[in-house]
Amino acid sequence: MKFSEFYLPTLREGGGDAIIASHRLMFRSGMIRKLSNGLFAYLPLGLRSFRKLENIIREEIEAIGAREIKAPVVVPGELWKESGRWDSMGDALLRAKNRLNVDLVVSPTAEEAFTAIVREDLFSYKQLPVNLYQINTKYRDEIRPRYGVMRAREFVMFDAYSFHVDEESLDSVYKAMGRAYKRIFKRCGLSVIPVKADSGAMGGAGSEEFMVESLIGDNILLLCPACDYSANVEKAGCQADFTPVPPLQEAKTRASSLPAVEIIDTPEVKTIAELCTFLKTDAKNFIKTLIYRALNVELDLSGVCNLERKKPSPDALPVYPEVFVAVCIRGDLDVNEVKLASVLKAAELALASEEDVRRITQAPLGFAGPVGLSAIPIIADESALAIPCAFTGALAEDKHYKNVVYGRDWTPFMSADLRTVKAGDKCPVCGEALYEKKGNELGHIFKLGKKYSTSMHLAYLDETGKSQIPTMGCYGIGLDRTLASVIEEHHDEAGIIWTATLAPFDVIIVPVKYDGEVKAAADELAAHLQKYGIDVLLDDRAERAGVKFNDADLIGIPYRVVVGDKNLSHDPPEFEIKKRGSKDSELIERGRAADYLAQRVRLDIEQLNGDES
Ligand code: ATP
Ligand code: MG
Repeated sequence: MKFSEFYLPTLREGGGDAIIASHRLMFRSGMIRKLSNGLFAYLPLGLRSFRKLENIIREEIEAIGAREIKAPVVVPGELWKESGRWDSMGDALLRAKNRLNVDLVVSPTAEEAFTAIVREDLFSYKQLPVNLYQINTKYRDEIRPRYGVMRAREFVMFDAYSFHVDEESLDSVYKAMGRAYKRIFKRCGLSVIPVKADSGAMGGAGSEEFMVESLIGDNILLLCPACDYSANVEKAGCQADFTPVPPLQEAKTRASSLPAVEIIDTPEVKTIAELCTFLKTDAKNFIKTLIYRALNVELDLSGVCNLERKKPSPDALPVYPEVFVAVCIRGDLDVNEVKLASVLKAAELALASEEDVRRITQAPLGFAGPVGLSAIPIIADESALAIPCAFTGALAEDKHYKNVVYGRDWTPFMSADLRTVKAGDKCPVCGEALYEKKGNELGHIFKLGKKYSTSMHLAYLDETGKSQIPTMGCYGIGLDRTLASVIEEHHDEAGIIWTATLAPFDVIIVPVKYDGEVKAAADELAAHLQKYGIDVLLDDRAERAGVKFNDADLIGIPYRVVVGDKNLSHDPPEFEIKKRGSKDSELIERGRAADYLAQRVRLDIEQLNGDES
């Protein structure tokens, strides 16, 4: 490919709004252009790497038996109403109407579409398992698109959906997918960390995210230095740092010997830190109580509150459209809202407004507590139950309780692990102190269970002719984010340093002046390399050599060959070859150059593609 015939508008400067290197470099190297916030175009250079990434994914995913389809990006809103996500998905879902006033959805993900497609043809257990995938456009109306294609509104996702007769079959595909992901990321030259992740309100039985460490990552990962435990903070657990909570009956008996609850005046002191100073105690002796408003709660609360359950759509599961809950946790800990949403099976969750807190607790903000709180259900983190004699808000301005005892003065309707695990907490597996890293999610594998197959009436006949509902898995990798992450991991001041497998071209030939014998030698080398199947960019522009060198560094082609009069006049004639990212260049005989380069490129690619040792 000749530079002059390729559309490659490189820029020395610009990308001023870019905060991270990959965004700036993708812009300057002419890989992408921004059309609007969160909407990007890939130019020819960017698209070449993008296609190489697509093919790596295809090869690895086909190798584990999944088959590619192409679903429409715009799908009937009706399918999303069937699954219940038309309502629960919120504003991230881009909805539209066609001229016949029919509701449509621009796919943010494709569980509904794939379930509906498979529903057309599935009738027997003999057809299962089925594992289908696509590499296709997604749209999510992200509130704050940022970091270029890392978090865009429109992006491309590899997404696969598998359908199974039982857990065992699902588990085997889920694991195969995990292994394929590891190979995909290795082939890209990326170091990924697989972490346990939240399965969300879908209530699936397992979920793992594939993260790259990143300073701009919006996930906190907890990792164990001693064993292989790694988890997203949304899911991370830890060993308890309190004495085990006795069963309720035992707690009640024990409570009879403890001092009675007392009300104390705490004028003008509100925060736990202020209270600790005022009462000369430690935050570990406080029960912190937070009021949350949860939407579309699937957890059965009958007997706990008298709210009414409703079905968002005829076939969806019944939910409580709006529930307020009080969450109690030890004063030095923080509630993990993802864990809470997962326990409640809530589609959405947020701290209640000040107005709601006043109405529920009959007190200003800062005085909530579980004693006498009957308006809403109380759910407790185990840490709150373990405090022998606690301080807590007394549901009245400037008042707190002391000597509050679980089982005697308050009892939650349920307890669960709701704490946010932090660096220093003990690994749940081996007890070593965990440490934290920031991560960016590149891929996700997920055991979905029967949520979609049930609500969308996907069924098959088993061996006995009985109708059964398949269990499902879903899997996704963001291609744009993966490509940007490769650049984050492989670049320097001058530009991108492409890994061999994703480089838009393997070799760039830079004739110092594209004329005469230099031109003839450069053309000959390009033709020779192309015969070997090497992707070559020939910089035939009438630019100064320095400009061409800078561009070659910026776009990051792995091998640069400089063809100039001086080296050609050597006996034998020579080319100067330099690997991008290394300081030194070498002179290679003109006659040997094509063989030499082809071999180097092949070795580099093989090294990345090779099996994990
Ligand atoms: P995030 O938490 O970053 O919003 P997610 O968990 O919602 O991502 P999934 O639904 O698991 O994303 O989608 C699978 C993959 O799609 C992600 O791992 C990520 O690589 C990619 N992806 C998701 N949202 C975006 C986006 N806005 N821009 C680019 N890629 C995205
Ligand atoms: Mg995810």
